[in-house]
Amino acid sequence: MIFLKCSTDCRSLVRLVHENSNPQYPEYSNFLSRLKTFDSYPTRSRQDKYSLAECGFTYTGTGDLVQCHYCGVLLEKWEENDEVWQQHAMHNPECVFVLLYKGAQFIENVKNEFNNITSNNRYNNSQVHICKSESYDVVG
Ligand SMILES: [Zn+2]
Repeated sequence: MIFLKCSTDCRSLVRLVHENSNPQYPEYSNFLSRLKTFDSYPTRSRQDKYSLAECGFTYTGTGDLVQCHYCGVLLEKWEENDEVWQQHAMHNPECVFVLLYKGAQFIENVKNEFNNITSNNRYNNSQVHICKSESYDVVG
């Protein structure tokens, strides 16, 4: 591999990863250890624990409140149509876990979609069920 150039974007990404290279809860870095926290997860929840664990979340033991092991963001009140990665990226676009798994372009897209919605309904044709997430309580 030959490293040709580094754009400003790339540099800020490198800095982001560098400054956040340690997860807040390193004991949950692995998928199975996260999945285990969902043992008491309510079965009536609208999101399945496998998707949540895959997207970096651990179960907090309260309602359907989950927390990212990496950035510590807390999300609850999941809807059936929520796309977990998308919600994660939207509520913390700086999460390095999302960045590493989904890439910068994915986060950019989510941000753009979210901006379009918040800047008053220019996003009517959306197939993305992001609007619902306004009911989310984000702590931290
Ligand atoms: Zn995160």
